Amino acid sequence: MAIMLRAKGLDAGKAIRHALLGAGALAAATVGPLATVAYAQQGQPRTIEDTEVDEILHKECDPVFAAAGINPKDMHILLIEDKELNAGTANGHLIGLNTGTIAEAKTPNELIGVMAHETGHAAGGHTVRGEAEMQRAAMNPMLLTLGLGLLAAVAGAPDAGMALIGSSGYFGTLGAIGYSREQESRADQAAITYLEKAGESGRGMVEFFDNFRYQEVFEEARRYKYFQDHPISSERIEALRRRAEEQPHYNAVDPPELVALHEVMRAKLFAFTQPPQQTFIKYPENDTSYPARYARAIAYYRETEIDFALQAIAGLIADQPNNPYLWELKGQVLFEAGRVKESEPAHRRSVELKPNAPLLQINLARAILAQDDGKRADEAIEHLQKALAADPQNAFAFALMAQAYDAKGDGGAARLASAEERYALGDMVQARVFALRARELLPKNTPQWRRATDIVLVANPGKDDLQRLGG
Ligand SMILES: [Zn+2]
Repeated sequence: MAIMLRAKGLDAGKAIRHALLGAGALAAATVGPLATVAYAQQGQPRTIEDTEVDEILHKECDPVFAAAGINPKDMHILLIEDKELNAGTANGHLIGLNTGTIAEAKTPNELIGVMAHETGHAAGGHTVRGEAEMQRAAMNPMLLTLGLGLLAAVAGAPDAGMALIGSSGYFGTLGAIGYSREQESRADQAAITYLEKAGESGRGMVEFFDNFRYQEVFEEARRYKYFQDHPISSERIEALRRRAEEQPHYNAVDPPELVALHEVMRAKLFAFTQPPQQTFIKYPENDTSYPARYARAIAYYRETEIDFALQAIAGLIADQPNNPYLWELKGQVLFEAGRVKESEPAHRRSVELKPNAPLLQINLARAILAQDDGKRADEAIEHLQKALAADPQNAFAFALMAQAYDAKGDGGAARLASAEERYALGDMVQARVFALRARELLPKNTPQWRRATDIVLVANPGKDDLQRLGG
């Protein structure tokens, strides 16, 4: 257990990732504040979970979700690392979005337009080819915790990580979505309605679609999946343009603060997903803007130029001392460099600045636990409990919780946490095994003991298991 936590230095971290991912995938592997996730098999996309990016996406898109009658809090944006331009919906409350789409959306309004179109499919309950698979994937508890695949694996449960990787076939189905012409037209119309209601122009959506339609015409080789799934014709574009132009908010422009955040998001995603050399070309030293310096800090970190990375982060923090994500990045750089003790105050600061973000709480708990000080286990548990209060299915938080209870010598609570972890991952076999063990160790009839019993009961118990429960 706790391979990562005991691994000192970047080389050890690399070795672990190497073991997990295989040599080929190593070059592309990013681990960072973008707590990278379900590492799919080589060549397959993986998902990214990052508090800052999620917050920016929601800032951009929530007015549109609300205009569609969807509570923005219920709308989950699943970010998929893939250069392909794509987006899709699995059910009314999940939009999968490729990083490639964000990279190509030059303005918030363009991205909001694409998301409005997807929201049109989601809210319209459009049935698609392959819907049965999508629904199955969406119903699977694995999907909810997909964000933790790599972290869970690194924390010493590689088979759990592999289970997640197995489920990433879900992403394949994003590409298999196909809507009818009729549904496309209805999603377009709905999108214009939502955008207008949200005070947004439809211009970005029209231009985004139009731009890529031409690319498709002129570059045969470069066929974006998105437009195979969302067939686009000049008639469709023209109808959309006419309707968009009629709207009172057609000339609305993005507020400068949102434009700035959009650039931060694009710079961060670029720096984390592209080779560092590309980042240094796209964001050269003479570009002293905040997004460029942010991107370079990340690129240095990924090149293991720790001093340069820390220096760049210090400069950014001087500009924005209360930005929790800069402290998160600083903590991550130090932690990954094996400077665990130094990483703790940085993570602590990020938590003070943003107490409700589960991933930040988890980072702090991990930094505390990694110092192997059994006396501080309770402190780590407190942060993990806060993370789980906000994200009750967070498998990685449960994995760390198991470590913390083990450090305290509380085997029963530790096995219960492992059972919860496996349950959150959808691994019912192991969930049952751990829950049965927890039941043996925990004092009878306590809430924890009853919870272990519940897990056994829902995790498809066998006849023998039921007999044991009865005994
Ligand atoms: Zn569509």
